[in-house]
Amino acid sequence: MTDKFNRKIEYARISVTDRCNLRCRYCMPENGVEKISHADILTYEEIIHVAKIFARLGIKKIRLTGGEPLLRKNICKLIAALKSIAGIEIVTLTTNGVLLKSFAQDLISAGIDGINLSLDTLDEKIFENLTRRNFFLKVIEGLQILLDLNFSNVKINCVPLRGVNDCDILKLVALAKNYPVKVRFIELMPIGCAENFCGVPTSEIFNLIEKNCGSLAQVEKNSLCGPAKYFKLKNFVGQIGFIDALKHKFCGDCNRIRLTAEGFLKPCLNFGTGLDVKNLLRSNFSDEEIFSAIEQTIYNKPREHLFNKKNNLRDGRKMYQVGG
Ligand code: SAM
Ligand code: SF4
Repeated sequence: MTDKFNRKIEYARISVTDRCNLRCRYCMPENGVEKISHADILTYEEIIHVAKIFARLGIKKIRLTGGEPLLRKNICKLIAALKSIAGIEIVTLTTNGVLLKSFAQDLISAGIDGINLSLDTLDEKIFENLTRRNFFLKVIEGLQILLDLNFSNVKINCVPLRGVNDCDILKLVALAKNYPVKVRFIELMPIGCAENFCGVPTSEIFNLIEKNCGSLAQVEKNSLCGPAKYFKLKNFVGQIGFIDALKHKFCGDCNRIRLTAEGFLKPCLNFGTGLDVKNLLRSNFSDEEIFSAIEQTIYNKPREHLFNKKNNLRDGRKMYQVGG
């Protein structure tokens, strides 16, 4: 479907849990994390119910996220069920990779179409400082397994932070030289714990890469690619991507909606407004009534995020509660 600004909405990010086995400093506090009770998290049946409505509304791609989605039991069953919904063409996953080694084969067997691995550094010490956990080697093993299994759609996501992991940008770029992966740099968004950090602007990373690795040649993108722009470098098998959330914001092309683990439909990352789908699912509303409410919420997707401005409707949720 299209929203009132004529954007075609085709992509839903569904968070399956708010739990995480890392504590990335820009995403989640170490202490005082209030967990959503199990009873308040959407069941798989409820997620599938909503996904079928999404599909009727024209959603073609679903990304599972969290918290850490691999912590949710039987995640591969959910993936297989989502893959079997008519109209859903692509099901992908964003993970921190800690549990990837043991899940990789099952994810592939369940039909996963792409795996985004969040990896902000290739330095074990920086990893431990940034994530407050010493699971670096597990994540690298997870990445290695995907490569060994020749899984073809691997994206590595890095959020560069000034004075924290920005020294590692070129090392991460080098992964795309030898492996068929997309290494993507995501601008830090001022959400929750991120306010204590300073992100590195995309333009600066772009210049750094061109200075050290040669010209970046842009690759054409398809409509389900999301906001990333991809580039090739000479003699690289992989690609480099940028998600430039702040300066060149991509709201005019935004094709996504988000469903939190507790079943709140968010048409825009930055706004707290949306629809309590769980309440509708657990009350006596008919399928058609739920369909219409979701349709209305998507239709009214805000025109743009207001990260750089005062916004009274700003969402108080942190990134691990939304899913990125
Ligand atoms: N735990 C999984 C992971 O880390 O991949 C999935 C959830 S995590 C919230 C999804 C993505 O959001 C990660 O790539 C993470 O780096 C990114 N993220 C978290 N906080 C962010 C922020 N303030 N700005 C930009 N990206 C952020
Ligand atoms: Fe967990 Fe992902 Fe947030 Fe890190 S970015 S704390 S891995 S949810």
